Amino acid sequence: MNDTIQTPASEGPVSARPRPSKPNNSSKYAFFEVVQGYLNVAADLVGLPDDIRTMLSQPKQEIIVHFPVRLADGSIHLFKGYRIQHNNILGPYKGGLRYHQGVSLDDLKALASMMTWKCALMGLPLGGAKGGIKFDPRAFSTRELQKITRRFIHALGSNIGPGYDIPAPDMGTNAQTMAWAMDTYMNTVGYLSHESVKGVVTGKPVASGGTHGRGKATGQGVVHCIVRWAEDNKFDLEGSTNIIQGFGNVGSHTAILLSKLGASTIAVGDHTGYRHNPEGFNGHKLCEYVKEHGSIDGYPGGEAITREEFFATEADILVPAALENQIGAEEAASMKVKLVVEGANGPCNPGGEEVLAQRSIDVIPDVLANSGGVTVSYYEWVQNKRCETWTLEEVDRRLQKKMYAAYGDVVDMARRKGCSLRIASYAVALERLAAVYAERQVWP
Ligand code: GLU
Repeated sequence: MNDTIQTPASEGPVSARPRPSKPNNSSKYAFFEVVQGYLNVAADLVGLPDDIRTMLSQPKQEIIVHFPVRLADGSIHLFKGYRIQHNNILGPYKGGLRYHQGVSLDDLKALASMMTWKCALMGLPLGGAKGGIKFDPRAFSTRELQKITRRFIHALGSNIGPGYDIPAPDMGTNAQTMAWAMDTYMNTVGYLSHESVKGVVTGKPVASGGTHGRGKATGQGVVHCIVRWAEDNKFDLEGSTNIIQGFGNVGSHTAILLSKLGASTIAVGDHTGYRHNPEGFNGHKLCEYVKEHGSIDGYPGGEAITREEFFATEADILVPAALENQIGAEEAASMKVKLVVEGANGPCNPGGEEVLAQRSIDVIPDVLANSGGVTVSYYEWVQNKRCETWTLEEVDRRLQKKMYAAYGDVVDMARRKGCSLRIASYAVALERLAAVYAERQVWP
């Protein structure tokens, strides 16, 4: 190893340069190791200087807070919250807050670094971060969620800020969570600064300083990628079929937007199970049902199927829009689709990806496919800074242009280097980061 900076191992021994490998047999998926593997392959490909690679291989800051909240039954519960700030050479740290029982330091490090690649790939003046709380938000009332969010934001204190680190929604959080977060932060800065700190979080409700188009932005970006892929492959989306794993913000908007292009969603799934409907689900109705019942469980349309049957459903496109590590070698071998578009972060593990490549099933990777969310978050932040409100048409127009440009850059890199779209996405991002490091260098 000839790195000039040693790579510290924060969670057990991490080899200096892991390559993508099948996750080890322990029950915990080594997500950060997997992402670092992609970083190393892409870094070799673009000849990234060793010291820059090493700096990018670990987050700059890993913040962990413990904070007490009095619950509805009068008891006090101590929560563990995280904010991982991976890199800010391009601009303030940016990325979501995840509320999920599976939240771990390792996963957040992976997700924070992916935000750095996403922002660089999309040409945004933002860095990468991710945070969250390890708990199941479904087990708490709205009133309790508000208290938990407020105490978390208070505990993070000046580790976040509109010019420093800007959280947003992620799994288990939404626009309401961001309204509480903004309000809490505003109340810590004194009234004279209230208005100037609106941009401390993005993904807010429109009436509270959010932007039009943020709700559907990630799904919209997924669909822009699908449209570009269809053009490149002379594939007619009208009359095509898709299956979607996860029916939260990303999955539901993707289904609705695809239906507008004449594509029908014939199988869906979430944490409660899977359903199949050869006639196609009505995305709007299913979305309303999920809003009311919290999941697709008991939805009157279609019939229940197993997870195995879901992945083996014959369709044109699969959009995994749930958790990481969902598509392994077995799922990939059973699939009958032409294209996988990663609405979620890290849904394919390296074993799954290898099988997809062998079977010539295309994969549009997470850092490209789901970057519509952070891109429109950036537009929200800019509007907050300028005290402006853009129309939905304006946001849509800008997002489409950015997504198409990034898609083109990635495909172009993949052709030039003969690599997968995933490695090409990382490579484009790394070239942009490297250029800035070369200009600014390391202080002092
Ligand atoms: N949580 C989203 C993501 O993973 C959005 C982040 C943001 O808008 O800052 O990309």
